[in-house]
Amino acid sequence: MENTETALAETEPIRLRLFDWWSRYARDLPWRFGRTTPWGVLVSEVMSQQTQMSRVVPYWTAWMRVWPDAASLAAAPKAEVITAWGRLGYPRRALRLQECARQVASQYADRLPRDYDQLVALPGIGDYTASAVMSFAYGERIAVIDTNIRRVLSRVFLGRESKGGAASREERQLAWQVLPEDEDPEASDHRVNGDDRLETADPQIRSAAWREPPSARWNQAVMELGATVCVARKPACDICPLAGHCRFLKAGLPGLGSGRTRPRQRFAGTDRQIRGSILQTLRQASGAPVSRKDLKPLCDDEIRLDRCIASLDEDGLLEIGQDGSLSLPQ
Ligand code: SF4
Repeated sequence: MENTETALAETEPIRLRLFDWWSRYARDLPWRFGRTTPWGVLVSEVMSQQTQMSRVVPYWTAWMRVWPDAASLAAAPKAEVITAWGRLGYPRRALRLQECARQVASQYADRLPRDYDQLVALPGIGDYTASAVMSFAYGERIAVIDTNIRRVLSRVFLGRESKGGAASREERQLAWQVLPEDEDPEASDHRVNGDDRLETADPQIRSAAWREPPSARWNQAVMELGATVCVARKPACDICPLAGHCRFLKAGLPGLGSGRTRPRQRFAGTDRQIRGSILQTLRQASGAPVSRKDLKPLCDDEIRLDRCIASLDEDGLLEIGQDGSLSLPQ
């Protein structure tokens, strides 16, 4: 406990270094820095749940062009929604997002609620996404807790790897303890001696990054550090802005990588891959029914193919006609 208290005493210099790093190196993603609506932030969060953010950008951009708000997505044909989801993976997320859009459009007059309890009650929205929207879109002071944030906070302040599984009480407590207050945004606007040669971000982005409330800036910056520098297996400590304060580095990176309890999922040859290939075939058919015979080249195990078709049907991702032909749902 005393150890943790000593670590927490360093919170302020850690924040300043991290804020400075964030203003220079934050990736220029189109849903950041107040350039989209709260709905746009929600869409970006749902799309990046199991997909890398950099891969999400073209999908998000095209999606928001066609369906800029909940009402337009709510009214879209399912087949178009599944088609636009493309290769983002886990396509059930697309239908859950549309269900969420329907509820926002009908229950909240097309305005995404600014209330954690109302957000978390929407289809497909869990604690992480609700907190992320409250913080990133609305600037409310709330601890956002995801794998990246847990990893960074545990390493820096506790000097050990975060354990896998659900966030522990200690991790939640730590995330709240180190979250900056927002009352006086000016107070946090002290920049660490800048080295202009290092700056890569657009000056407008840099200044927008400094205008966000400190708690929202902190959440995003810690998450970004976890995604780009303090990664699970090979953290880039030599370029890390927190290296001078990191207890994990000081301790010699004990048990590096041991926090991963979920092995990276194999994709090739799995039911997930076959499901993806079936959907891709249906997308390419542009609404024309596809017979099971046409799907045979995707998998030579007929039982397995049937199982994948049945599970897509169960998830509402395809329709089976009376003659057994398949198509995307309308
Ligand atoms: S010094 Fe290394 S382990 Fe510590 S926060 Fe930075 S990248 Fe992570």
